Amino acid sequence: MAKQRILSGMQPSGLLHLGNYFGALKNWVELQDDFECFYFIADWHSLTTHYEDPSKIRDYSFNVAVDWLAAGLDPEKSTLFIQSHIPEHAELFLFLSMIVPVPWLERNPTYKEKQDEIKNVDMSSLGFLGYPVLQTADIVLYKAHCVPVGVDQEPHLEISREIVRRFNGIYKKEVFIEPKAKISQTPKLNGLDGRKMSKSYNNAIFLADDEKTLEKKIKSMLTDPQRARRDDPGDPDVCNLFPLHKLYSTPEMQAEVREGCVTAGIGCGDCKKMLNASMLRGMGPHMERRREFAAKPKEVMDILFEGTEKARKVAKETMREAQEAMKFSHL
Ligand code: SF4
Repeated sequence: MAKQRILSGMQPSGLLHLGNYFGALKNWVELQDDFECFYFIADWHSLTTHYEDPSKIRDYSFNVAVDWLAAGLDPEKSTLFIQSHIPEHAELFLFLSMIVPVPWLERNPTYKEKQDEIKNVDMSSLGFLGYPVLQTADIVLYKAHCVPVGVDQEPHLEISREIVRRFNGIYKKEVFIEPKAKISQTPKLNGLDGRKMSKSYNNAIFLADDEKTLEKKIKSMLTDPQRARRDDPGDPDVCNLFPLHKLYSTPEMQAEVREGCVTAGIGCGDCKKMLNASMLRGMGPHMERRREFAAKPKEVMDILFEGTEKARKVAKETMREAQEAMKFSHL
């Protein structure tokens, strides 16, 4: 039986951090054996927030690709490509834009949320309002059956399904597939200061961080605020550090930390040293592979170009079908 197709993308709007890894990338790597996976660098989407200075997007795109490969995305198993190298994404976006009512986009909850969240960029652009249409084009161009999402992102796919139904209904042909969510559980992970890990809050541990930077960041992490002195007992369940122990430390070490914390048997400095050792063990192989790929930019770009060629064949065929259904093609 043919494998179902999965599609997902990441915006190259900065370096990838642990939130991106545990929230998506780790899952993408695991999906490679059971699905036909298409993963793309969503550089056009990055323009919604970086339109004033897009010059860094190219460098971020390269770094995203390096992290993907270092994390285990395998070009033999998955098709890895850059969105802007496939003009059919923009072409389909245009066709879909003609049939999507503007109130659908204005109703989109993330539209309002992001406008409230991002204060340093004017987000009142047509491009930002229409990003769910571009996102839908990205997905349906490859007739993806599923899109991997976290539990709270499921509603984001509903607008894509509505757009698919509208297109297929107007042109009376089932050209596009309604994408389903492939839900994955993602651990809650905060940044160094206890807020959501985000590059814009300057509180992230990046996959590109080296050993020294990692150690420095762990030392600076906020701990249980009630544990003001060394002999105050703490509570790992409210501490910002413990979720990282859960991800990187052995069960024995987690038990030792918990016991030492609640009895004030260990200090936060000891606990941070233990976490640093665990994270070095866990992230060390990624750091090593990352350095290797970063030193071979031509090889990395060739992987993306080969993926682009493969993806574009699929995209062109879908566009041919869509235009045929619309009876629009002059060819
Ligand atoms: S000992 Fe560890 S878990 Fe407890 S408050 Fe300090 S850093 Fe947090």
